[in-house]
Amino acid sequence: MPADLIILNAHVRPIFAPPGTTAIAVSEGLLLELGSDEAIRRHAGPETRIIDANGRELMPGFIESHVHLFMGGATLAMLNLGSVFGFEAARAALLDFAATNPGDEILYGYAVNYVIFGEDRRPDRHLLDAILADRPLCLLATDLHCAWANTRALKLAGILNGADLGPGAEVVMGDDGLANGELREFGAMRRVRMLSRLKDRDGLGYEGRDIVSDEDRTHDKALIRMAGDYCARHGITTAVNMDGNAYQAGLMRDLALAGDMPMRVSLPLRLEQRHGPEGIALIDDFGPEVPGRLHFGRIKLFMDGVYDTWTALTATDYPARPGFRSEPLIAPAIFNAMCIEADRRGLQIATHAVGDGAVRATIDGYEAARHANGWRDSRHRIEHIDTIAREDLERLAPLGIVASMQPVHPPGSAGLPLEPTTTIMGRHRWPTAFAWRMIRERGVPLAFGTDWPVSPISPLYAIHCALTRQPWSADMPDQRISLDECLLAYTTGGAYAGFAEDRRGRLEPGLDADLVLIEGSLDGLAETEDAARVALTVCGGSITFDRTL
Ligand SMILES: [Zn+2]
Repeated sequence: MPADLIILNAHVRPIFAPPGTTAIAVSEGLLLELGSDEAIRRHAGPETRIIDANGRELMPGFIESHVHLFMGGATLAMLNLGSVFGFEAARAALLDFAATNPGDEILYGYAVNYVIFGEDRRPDRHLLDAILADRPLCLLATDLHCAWANTRALKLAGILNGADLGPGAEVVMGDDGLANGELREFGAMRRVRMLSRLKDRDGLGYEGRDIVSDEDRTHDKALIRMAGDYCARHGITTAVNMDGNAYQAGLMRDLALAGDMPMRVSLPLRLEQRHGPEGIALIDDFGPEVPGRLHFGRIKLFMDGVYDTWTALTATDYPARPGFRSEPLIAPAIFNAMCIEADRRGLQIATHAVGDGAVRATIDGYEAARHANGWRDSRHRIEHIDTIAREDLERLAPLGIVASMQPVHPPGSAGLPLEPTTTIMGRHRWPTAFAWRMIRERGVPLAFGTDWPVSPISPLYAIHCALTRQPWSADMPDQRISLDECLLAYTTGGAYAGFAEDRRGRLEPGLDADLVLIEGSLDGLAETEDAARVALTVCGGSITFDRTL
């Protein structure tokens, strides 16, 4: 039977296919054969689409291992302030955005740096009021673990006089006895997010239990579809969505069944401490998967927050705060019980852990599951690992833990300033901060992603950041890994982390035809981010992005 699609005259790296491979044939969504142009041409029939790669680079589609599709889709309609610094620049951008979006219930800026108004002044409601006082305004910090609202938004949300939210979230109070505008973690941010049309349906704290109108459902599906197209533009063929509930599962199933999702999606059940081990049964409400397109089978937990809000759980005291290490978002006994139950059910666990104390507590939980249930191919994951204690580096591989890391997250990379993160973190943690190389050298499987919309989604940009990363001081180890290692973390590594290594992440006959064609030079990414860009994306044999169109 002739091929549906043939790509000829391509450059294929030896890490992905045997030497001499320049062409590929695709049939019924699968890779039919790899070989020389001459060998592959034989699969051409009258209906076959033939693409001349003109020497461009062909590789497996990118697997983005940590992303928030719903929230990402929502940010596509917000103002990106990632490269904006200084009051006047922020004011101009926000007033312009307000003028062009007169109907928004609340105006959102996102990707906001903690030092947007300077290193010695964190954003607060007074600064935001000076920009815009008569409409609700909210700035989402670049890590999405913090936000700043103006007085109008705080009043409408009913939290100007503060709110007692319990552990793990805080409405920060000012000297005047009123909220100063800083909202730490999801529990606090949610109060303001409820002012928008989306309410908090895209949010990390949303459980998906509300009754949603058909109109809102349609709206939400369109947002996720937009996020899917945005991923396809960047060469992504599989995305691991990192927060999920039964509502999102339903939306994504509708999209997948209708052929409206231009990539494969994996969606976990997100749980908090209060759910306890019993809460894991909520995954049964997700309904059926869509084979090959939509996968569940995982829970997502948060052990801590981030350094910039002092919510990262540390193994040693924070600098200049003797005795302070923050608190785990899930108490160890409950976390361990949740791990044991999830593991017993054959689910994969993915835990957000940024502080070295959080990483340790997470490893402890995975170890407890191993002791209780015995060995199985569990591939429990730790998300981020911004910092890790030296002795814990050695505990990852023996437990089969997968490191899910983001090359765009280290301060100093991807336009992120060094402050306040590096100071709050403390210098003694720098040598093992974002330690991709040390982790990889210890035989720990590595999967890359961006945490979009926390960081820009482009895998090529993330690889550029990985290749050009600079140590924060002369005595800090070089954590860079090679280009091939980066590409593997975005393909084979991602497939392994998703239990899909027998289907994707490589080029081999019989595997899914998930491909990306790159123009320019991947090697040039070590010099400049503009060296390479995605020309064509193919998912399951279908073209999901074509730059020439
Ligand atoms: Zn995330």
